[in-house]
Amino acid sequence: MDCTKCDREAVMHAAYSGAHLCEAHFLESVDRRVRKRVREDSLLSEGATPEDPETWVIGLSGGKDSVVLTHVLHETFEEDPRVELVGLTIHEGIEGYRDRSLDACVELAEEIGIRHEVVSYGEEFGVRMDDVVEDDPENMAACAYCGVFRRDLLSKYAEKLGADKLLTGHNLDDEAQTALMNFLEGDVAQIAKHFDASLGGFEEREELRSSNESGRSPRTRKEGEAFVPRAKPLRDVPEKEVALYAHLLDLPAHITECPHSSEAYRGEIQRLLYGLEENHPGTRHSIMAGYEELGGIVSEELDDRSADLKECERCGSTTTRDVCRKCSLLESLSA
Ligand code: SF4
Ligand SMILES: [Zn+2]
Ligand SMILES: [Zn+2]
Repeated sequence: MDCTKCDREAVMHAAYSGAHLCEAHFLESVDRRVRKRVREDSLLSEGATPEDPETWVIGLSGGKDSVVLTHVLHETFEEDPRVELVGLTIHEGIEGYRDRSLDACVELAEEIGIRHEVVSYGEEFGVRMDDVVEDDPENMAACAYCGVFRRDLLSKYAEKLGADKLLTGHNLDDEAQTALMNFLEGDVAQIAKHFDASLGGFEEREELRSSNESGRSPRTRKEGEAFVPRAKPLRDVPEKEVALYAHLLDLPAHITECPHSSEAYRGEIQRLLYGLEENHPGTRHSIMAGYEELGGIVSEELDDRSADLKECERCGSTTTRDVCRKCSLLESLSA
């Protein structure tokens, strides 16, 4: 089959758009989608200058998603002195798994010449995921501990590194799965939280309203002072395309699955979405378009949520409780 745009041989077919693309046109189409998302989310604020650049910290796990994200952003902003990229890798203490993906991170950061920091659960919290799984004092899935610890370190170090934005490599499949899980669990507050944390654009809402003649304002996020704002510039690109991109460019990405991976429900949703996408191409895109619009509305509706934020008694991080979730998990692990 020939490429839809030229007469070279196609390396992929996107059923949701009908396009068959050759290697060059496929790579270009991924770059274009990421750049469009960066623009549409107003990721680079207008105040950024070569003298006062923005720092974007990328959560660099060494998996294909974060490696592709880092690569595309580097290619895009290499010549732009208004943006400085920093890679931040979290080492969970998982034997044989993170060690190898850490190598991939180091290789990539060296190759493109960006600053790279590594922080570990061991050094920060005195625990390793391998031991947490053994102990399991709360009788939970490994990922439930791990996610809390990772979020904590990403926020803490993004702030330490002077980040203006914290970027993660979530792709279209990840986001559509999360959206569907929030729907199926009926968790409206979680939809608002998801939106505020990482969806929608950064522009001033008032400005957008007055400049938008249709009267329908694009949904943008609330200004949160407490956290470094997050964004997911890869969220329009399906997982398989991210994998193909990494493969075609031979990027240093590590692909083995974590031995503690235990998200059974997410796996079920993933299979459901595969089936839907096959019979109804474009399902993931339409889920996300509707979800984002809805998330913006719900977020405005629940506008007073952030008023309850306070400082954790133990570590001082921002939380809605007296002691944050990370500190209470660490407490039960040391008991
Ligand atoms: S799969 Fe779960 S346990 Fe493994 S690194 Fe990811 S969150 Fe942590
Ligand atoms: Zn082509
Ligand atoms: Zn705490």
